[in-house]
Amino acid sequence: MTVNILFAAKEERWPTYEPHLRRALDDKGLDYDLRRDFAPDEVDYMVYAPNSDVQDFTPYTRLKAVLNLWAGVEGITRNDTLTVPLARMVDDGLTQGMIEWVTGHVLRHHLGMDAYIVNPDQEWNLIVPPLAQDRSVAILGLGALGRACAETLVGLGFKVSGWSRSPKEIAGVTCHHGENGLTETLAEAEILVLLLPDTPATENTLNAETLAALPRGAVILNPGRGPLIDDNALIDALNSGQIGHATLDTFRIEPLPADHSYWAHPRVTVTPHCASETRPASASRIIAENIARGESGQPFLYLVDRDSGY
Ligand code: NDP
Repeated sequence: MTVNILFAAKEERWPTYEPHLRRALDDKGLDYDLRRDFAPDEVDYMVYAPNSDVQDFTPYTRLKAVLNLWAGVEGITRNDTLTVPLARMVDDGLTQGMIEWVTGHVLRHHLGMDAYIVNPDQEWNLIVPPLAQDRSVAILGLGALGRACAETLVGLGFKVSGWSRSPKEIAGVTCHHGENGLTETLAEAEILVLLLPDTPATENTLNAETLAALPRGAVILNPGRGPLIDDNALIDALNSGQIGHATLDTFRIEPLPADHSYWAHPRVTVTPHCASETRPASASRIIAENIARGESGQPFLYLVDRDSGY
């Protein structure tokens, strides 16, 4: 029987995704109809992005699963009208993009590159950075992305630690978990990377107290989500010198409002939620794999635990 797949992400994504999705679904040998419009009660699977027009899932009576195109699911996981399995995106291209963004920004701060890139007075001022082996980088969140970044930074020789909800073992990484583990992780972090999901439990993970637990002058990179940080506490910590620099890719309101104090702050770098994008070719293979699994009665990959919110 033909499987009806609704592409429910924004219309402008359709031309980019359609050929990749068709190729991946063909490769799986599925008998399918892929469209942007179906009557709700005809849809078997929904390819979804949180800014989709679909917010009420009640009319989708035949729906077997919602397959999210993004890694972050905060825009859908709290939707009570969704009662079928929800899978998030874990995609090689997305992971590689995040490794590159995190590594690039860690190296920027580790090497002190700004002093030479922004050097209006043309000063010949040699500053010798420590070697990576003497630089501590900590990652909050050791999931698909945090773990891959941690492993890459270990490969470059950095002293890497990390924090997650459950215990982890990652070669070369000092892994902490649970509430007490956070303070231990922060105490070691000259450069701190946030790769936690946005859930009720992670909101304001960085607040006045936890920012004070970092070494003085620590650098923060936030490619995770805006609500992980109490913004007022971060501005205070930047102004006092407790935090040396913050490179922020994600914000509570996006695009970041023009009058937000982050834009003008001399020790904040704003990037426009560009750390890593879902890549249509590799992501389409994950979507097709999950639909094939659904049709053959196998468990879906990368299911979201709706109770924990990620
Ligand atoms: P995962 O779900 O694979 O990993 C999440 C990690 O966070 C896990 O290690 C998890 O612990 C940990 N965690 C969750 N809640 C807590 C908590 N309360 N206390 C301690 N640790 C916690 O997600 P991904 O790695 O795939 O993605 C992480 C986030 O990155 C996404 O949710 C999204 O917000 C962001 N992102 C940003 C992008 C950008 O362009 N800026 C692009 C893609 C993603 P445990 O392992 O024990 O479950």
